[in-house]
Order: sequence, then C-alpha cells, then structure tokens
Amino acid sequence: WDMFVLAFVERLFRPTYRKDDFVLGKKLGEGAFGVVYRVSLAKNPSSKKEGDLVLKKATEYGAVEIWMNERVRRACSSSCADFLYGFLENSSKKGAQYWLLWRFEGEATLSDLMLSKDFPYNVEAMILGEVQALPKGLERENRIIQTIMRQVLFALDALHTTGIVHRDIKPQNIIFSEGSRTFKIIDLGAAADLRVGINYIPKEFLLDPRYAAPEQYIMSTQTPSAPSAPVATALSPVLWQMNLPDRFDIYSAGLIFLQMAFPSLRSDSNLIQFNRQLKRCEYDLVSWRKAVEPRASLELRRGFELLDLDGGIGWELLTSMVRYKARQRTSAKTALAHPYFDREGLLALSFMQ
Ligand code: ADP
Ligand code: MG
Repeated sequence: WDMFVLAFVERLFRPTYRKDDFVLGKKLGEGAFGVVYRVSLAKNPSSKKEGDLVLKKATEYGAVEIWMNERVRRACSSSCADFLYGFLENSSKKGAQYWLLWRFEGEATLSDLMLSKDFPYNVEAMILGEVQALPKGLERENRIIQTIMRQVLFALDALHTTGIVHRDIKPQNIIFSEGSRTFKIIDLGAAADLRVGINYIPKEFLLDPRYAAPEQYIMSTQTPSAPSAPVATALSPVLWQMNLPDRFDIYSAGLIFLQMAFPSLRSDSNLIQFNRQLKRCEYDLVSWRKAVEPRASLELRRGFELLDLDGGIGWELLTSMVRYKARQRTSAKTALAHPYFDREGLLALSFMQ
C-alpha cells in the first residue's frame, strides 16, 4: 500500500499533458502499431528548435506500453528512455489512440551507429566525448564493443530483475542517450511483465524474426491471445524460474554482439542469411564457425580474430548467449560477471593516454 500511495502522489505532482500541448516535429518512426514524432511543447517552443520530447501515437497496444513504462520508471529508470507521461486520446478521427511521451534522448540508435563506416569508433567518441589519438585496431575495437555490450546487458539485467522481458531487443530499439552517454532500451510495446501478472503474449507478428530466439513462445503456459488491454493473471516467480523467459532477450543481445564483431552481418539481408545458416547448423555457433571459417572472407576472419582475443573469451561469451535451448543460455547478470568484462573497457583507454 505504501508503494501504491507513493506512486499515486508521484503521479499527481508530475506534469500532465493534453493533445493540444504539442507541436509536431520530424517523424522518427512508423510501424504497424504507431507513429513516433519528435515534438516540443506549444507553450515552450523555444526550448529547442526541433523539440526535446518524443511522442508516440499508438494503437491499442499502447496500453501495455504505458503500463511497462510506468513500471520501468519506478523500478529501473536508467535502463530505458526517460518516460514522462501516457494517456488515452479519444478525440482523434482515427478513434482511440494512446499517446506516450518521453524525453528526447539523442539522435542515434545503435542501428544508426552500426551502419556507419566508422563503427565502433563513432561510439567511442560519443561515450568518451572526445576523439582518441591511439592507433586503431582490433584491441581497441574490442574494448569499445565490450563497453557497448556491458551497457546493454546492464540495462537488460535491470529489466529482467524487475520481471520484464522486452522481446524486441535489436539495434533499432537501443538509443544512445546523449545526456548520460550510455545506451538505453526503448520500445516496450512487445514487452511482458510476468511477475506482476501482465501476462500478455503478443501475436507472433509482433516479434522481429531477424532477432527472435527460436522458441515461439517464451512461456509454455496457456495464455490468452492478444488482449486490447493488460489482463491480470496470477503468475508466480516460480513460473519465471521454470520457463526462463528472459533468455529470449539474451539470444537477441547475442545477435547484436555478433553483428558488432562481424561488419558483414550488419545488413538485413546478410543477417537473414546468417539466421538460415545457423538454423541449418541446429543453432550451434561452433558448427557454424566450422562451416564458414575455412572459406571465410578477410572481413569475416577479422571478426573471429576479435572474438578470439584474450584466449577467446569474447567467443566464449557469444556462444553462451546464442544457443538453441533457452535453459542453456546465460542470464544478463551472469553474463556481466563473465571474464570478457574483466578487462577494463573504454574508460581505461582514456586514462592510458
Ligand atoms: P516503433 O519501433 O514502434 O516505431 P520506437 O519506440 O522504437 O517505435 O521508436 C521509433 C524510433 O524513434 C526509434 O527507433 C528511435 O529512432 C526514435 N526514438 C524513440 N524514442 C526515442 C527517445 N526517447 N529519444 C530519441 N529517439 C527516440
Ligand atoms: Mg522500435
């Protein structure tokens, strides 16, 4: 009850917004379930030319997304983009829409950054706020990738500890926050909260096949099909333990690690082709490596070389994340304690000068 009262009081004093408060700016994204704009407040248009807020106008799935964002704000706010407010907007011609508002975290997602020729050095400059004078090479790239992976796993661990599985982890849903100089997770539209009982299994089409783990459903229980609003059912932490639904996100995070190590796997078409190859190898990365390494391009070989640094701890971590059986995949917390992260990352690099 204390929690309830606190949440209520906090909500009461937080600014609330209405439809007419916003001036729409650039469209940032458009999917089947909503449109995302950069916006500014009408009463405060000079705050920033392009607007320092982000607005998502969502379909019925927006109800779940508001719920998840409210929960994240209270339980693990630094993991995700800073959520301000969500409400039901009824006056729209399109019928009821959910409007969600966040602080604008920055211009670039991890996807944008990975598609640059300069990756991962562009990320190094953003995290450290300066350009390094050290020579470029595998060692340094590995440290930058390690720092990114640590930040992503740190955010995931906090989400999972809260009881939330994201289910749509991919570079497009990881934003670089210019304020905190860290990566944060966005887009909780497909997320599930299993501890509190928001047990919402979206239709298959909600999952992005490029990053989805082989298991179709993260919980093996009988669950209702997509409802229009959150439904409460009694699901215990015991079920969480049995099904390890968080390992779905770990698989996706493993694919991001893979894409960072292998530039050629960053394009959609090559990632899809990789997924086909991996399926043929029964989702065994070691077999995949055996199959491709003998006739690998220089670029592909360079990726293996990066993962093989320091006795192959990078490769070891990768193979503990991308596995067929959820049960055999590492958790975010265990991954963070992996020797791959023992070496100091980027910050050490800036002290070395
Ligand atoms: P969807 O994928 O459903 O269209 P997202 O929540 O992923 O919606 O947002 C779409 C895009 O908008 C993101 O890929 C990102 O580029 C941008 N974006 C979303 N939230 C923020 C934010 N808080 N700060 C900056 N950009 C954001
Ligand atoms: Mg998205």
